[in-house]
Amino acid sequence: MLTLPVFEWARPASVDDVLRELSSRPGECLLVAGGTDAVPNLKHRLHEPKRVVSLGGVSELKQVREDADGLHVGALVTLTALSRLPEIRRDFAATAEAASLVASPQIRNMGTLGGNLCLDTRCTYYNQTYFWREALGFCLKKDGVLCHVVPQGKRCVAAHSSDVAPTLIAYGAEVEIAGPRGRRSVSVDAFFVGDGVHNNVLGPDELVTRVTFPAAARGQRGAYRKLRPRAAIDFPMLSVAVAARAPARGGSDAARIDSLRVVVSALGAKPRLLGGVDALVAGRPAGEETFAAVAASARKQCRPLTNVPYDDDWRHAMVPVMVTRALRDAFAEGGER
Ligand SMILES: Cc1cc2nc3c(=O)[nH]c(=O)nc-3n(C[C@H](O)[C@H](O)[C@H](O)COP(=O)(O)OP(=O)(O)OC[C@H]3O[C@@H](n4cnc5c(N)ncnc54)[C@H](O)[C@@H]3O)c2cc1C
Ligand code: SF4
Repeated sequence: MLTLPVFEWARPASVDDVLRELSSRPGECLLVAGGTDAVPNLKHRLHEPKRVVSLGGVSELKQVREDADGLHVGALVTLTALSRLPEIRRDFAATAEAASLVASPQIRNMGTLGGNLCLDTRCTYYNQTYFWREALGFCLKKDGVLCHVVPQGKRCVAAHSSDVAPTLIAYGAEVEIAGPRGRRSVSVDAFFVGDGVHNNVLGPDELVTRVTFPAAARGQRGAYRKLRPRAAIDFPMLSVAVAARAPARGGSDAARIDSLRVVVSALGAKPRLLGGVDALVAGRPAGEETFAAVAASARKQCRPLTNVPYDDDWRHAMVPVMVTRALRDAFAEGGER
């Protein structure tokens, strides 16, 4: 049986109190929201904090508000609540779908939007017990100096595994970060960095307070597809989020695409927002020919690694398949507009 390490515990009641906790013990605290990822990681000694700071008592982080700027969703909103929010289902269906596909009902009832965004990267050589990792000499993400996936590499390439994050990037959402110098907002795309040791821009004295779905992102056709061994519990081994602007045209004309964002994730440390997509689709009908061009480009731009226990050639071959399926979903009759 895996036991928890010894740590101090704090349950502040406001964002300012959380910030005071973080700055009073620089680099020694671990934030915990739903705990669905943090607790197993503590048991595996992947996190070894002196103090665990629970966000559960901070009511500000549970708020949902819609205004002229967009829809603001607090970091502590659970994945179950997120997948059922009427505004999310109406305007951001890809996010509702992604949240509903995480793990299992129990985990979605505990797991939060902020925790999903800040989810630690995953790797075959990392998500193991201390004993297992020690036997292999550890790796550069934790306690070691070498990467077992790319032995000559200087960076960790563990897989970004959040289901919700790729959809946030597809919709151009922003994340608000609170820190000792006040609050700042960054696009979710810019929130992530390509180093799996710590794959986001959060400092040790900062926390995520909310996500904003911009008003301008409403009215798009969105979809999310996830590849996993089983239809529940499993993390994605490949995921695709799409959001397209394709205004309805009268008569029998097929929809024509004005713009399209495609995000492929669960391959490396950062979700990949594909480049050059608008040049392939702008003004073209939303049909199989256009989808095939985007899918072929996705295959060229994405390179799976042996960071998760599934065949990387197969995951690579599935990239165009999943992109095509996501695009078909987005443009299916009755799809989101
Ligand atoms: C069996 C199993 C299957 C899973 N399957 C999936 C899956 O299919 N897809 C998926 O996406 N996830 C999966 N997860 C991971 C996890 O359950 C979800 O990602 C969940 O959303 C994490 O949210 P949480 O609130 O529980 O985060 P926690 O476990 O509390 O925290 C996760 C990380 O985020 C940090 N954090 C949390 N909130 C904040 C904040 N507001 N600001 C800054 N940092 C913060 C914590 O410090 C920690 O490092 C699975 C977990 C398990 C145990
Ligand atoms: S990608 Fe390399 S450094 Fe990162 S967790 Fe895996 S083995 Fe460790």
